[in-house]
Amino acid sequence: MPEKKHIVIIGAGPGGLCAGMLLSHHGFNVTLLDKNAEVGGRNRPIRLGEFVFDTGPTFLLMKHVLDDMFALCGRRSDAYLDFIKLDPMYRLLFADRAVNVYSDRAKMREELAQSFAEGSDGYDQYLQREGQRFKKLYPCIKRDYSSLKAFFSWDLLRAVPSLALNHSVFTNLGKYFQEEKMRLVFSFQSKYLGMSPWDCPALFTMLSYLEHEYGIYHVKGGLNKIAAAMAQVITEQGGVIRTNTAVQSLIIKDKVVQGVRLEDGSELFADEVIVNADFAYAMTQLVPHGTLRQYSPEKIQALDYSCSTFMLYLGLDTYYDLPHHTIAFADDYTTNIDNIFHNKTLSSDFSFYVQNACASDDSLAPAGKSALYILVPMPNNDSGLDWPSLCAEKRGQILTVLEERLGLVGIRDHIECEKIITPQTWASDENVYKGATFSLAHKFSQLLYWRPHNQFQELGQCYLVGGGTHPGSGLPTIYESAHISAKLICRKHRVKFGSGL
Ligand SMILES: Cc1cc2nc3c(=O)[nH]c(=O)nc-3n(C[C@H](O)[C@H](O)[C@H](O)COP(=O)(O)OP(=O)(O)OC[C@H]3O[C@@H](n4cnc5c(N)ncnc54)[C@H](O)[C@@H]3O)c2cc1C
Repeated sequence: MPEKKHIVIIGAGPGGLCAGMLLSHHGFNVTLLDKNAEVGGRNRPIRLGEFVFDTGPTFLLMKHVLDDMFALCGRRSDAYLDFIKLDPMYRLLFADRAVNVYSDRAKMREELAQSFAEGSDGYDQYLQREGQRFKKLYPCIKRDYSSLKAFFSWDLLRAVPSLALNHSVFTNLGKYFQEEKMRLVFSFQSKYLGMSPWDCPALFTMLSYLEHEYGIYHVKGGLNKIAAAMAQVITEQGGVIRTNTAVQSLIIKDKVVQGVRLEDGSELFADEVIVNADFAYAMTQLVPHGTLRQYSPEKIQALDYSCSTFMLYLGLDTYYDLPHHTIAFADDYTTNIDNIFHNKTLSSDFSFYVQNACASDDSLAPAGKSALYILVPMPNNDSGLDWPSLCAEKRGQILTVLEERLGLVGIRDHIECEKIITPQTWASDENVYKGATFSLAHKFSQLLYWRPHNQFQELGQCYLVGGGTHPGSGLPTIYESAHISAKLICRKHRVKFGSGL
């Protein structure tokens, strides 16, 4: 590259940080801008007194994808991060039984045999057939679909039968497992995409497969340390990160992005702009109305979105003996799912997830104390629910189920500090459109070529990274989105990509 090209990245979430890391390594002059005081976006830490919590991601799947991103920058991820493999990966709590889920195959077979009448017979078949499907699909996930030519790739044509287009994750699992709860053990992961197992396309059966194949990881200090490590790599490579710097709008001339206007009125010009801020928020708030056709505000409004979440972060003056991850299912799981995704109403009987990271990490709370993270899936803001008036009641219900279902007796008396995020505050404070925390829904009509393109189709010199573009939400796929966009930018500027370790 004769002169260093300037890349401005809006947002220092996992997608923006990973793109910044890859591009600064490849000789670009990178500036990241984030409205928050700290990097990481939904992957940043929450600090309450002596306690530290992850805001969002707590499960690191496909660690090798993260390793690859560091290797592409000539670095080893374990030189920056202390990974802790979790096995059992998590505990599932049904009304009538608890199931520990292991990536260790022998232990998993034993657990299934003890917990389900049908035993572990389907498990090996599931691993073998879903493994084959994953091998066919993953090359398609790593590809760019910014043009029709790229879409009609040999990889994708070969993978079409593996898409199981007429099946959802739940019905697909019927090939291996009979009992409904057995199927839930391998399908609740659709919630990682903010979708119902009954609506989520069968190809995402790979989510549970990936856990069983590669295991899941915690990072000492929380997954937020990944964001901090990426930021460190960017600065080591000469990139600039400006926090407390909100972008007000894109500067666009003849449908080509020239740079960004900041909230203080100043302007910053660039050769390419990468948008990591939530896609639907960015298109409706950062692009002057009347500019976009395919993604005009009206069309953005009409797309399908994931669910939202109600978050409760509790700093406790005691330690309860809980696994690192517990997922508790509503007694009437299907009604709870219907309420979240279709009726858009609240359920008094609800599923929830609790992270007790202090079980494997002593750096998050003082000795004898603990930091609990509770996530309850909720309808997104299409519900019209008035969260400021509902918040206290929901908090109370959650504390009650923690006592009743997890046995955290007297928890109210042990709360030293707390923070709540509601679907409404995801939208107002975190710039997440409709509070849909897992972005655009991952249904077929919003995937691959039909998801907003990594090289954004409506504006020149504009690329997308993060959960709202291809391949979709979740840390490994978000890193892949950064990988795809960084490669496209390198190709455009004739920079050889991939000169890492
Ligand atoms: C509660 C929750 C739990 C999750 N759990 C997991 C999990 O266990 N495992 C997993 O793999 N994934 C998980 N995810 C999904 C996903 O990995 C995260 O949401 C991830 O942080 C999304 O990354 P991103 O790069 O798309 O965007 P974000 O993290 O949202 O980053 C976008 C950035 O843009 C910035 N920004 C927005 N507007 C502006 C502006 N105008 N100017 C400047 N900056 C701006 C924001 O401040 C933010 O830093 C979870 C998500 C949530 C919400």
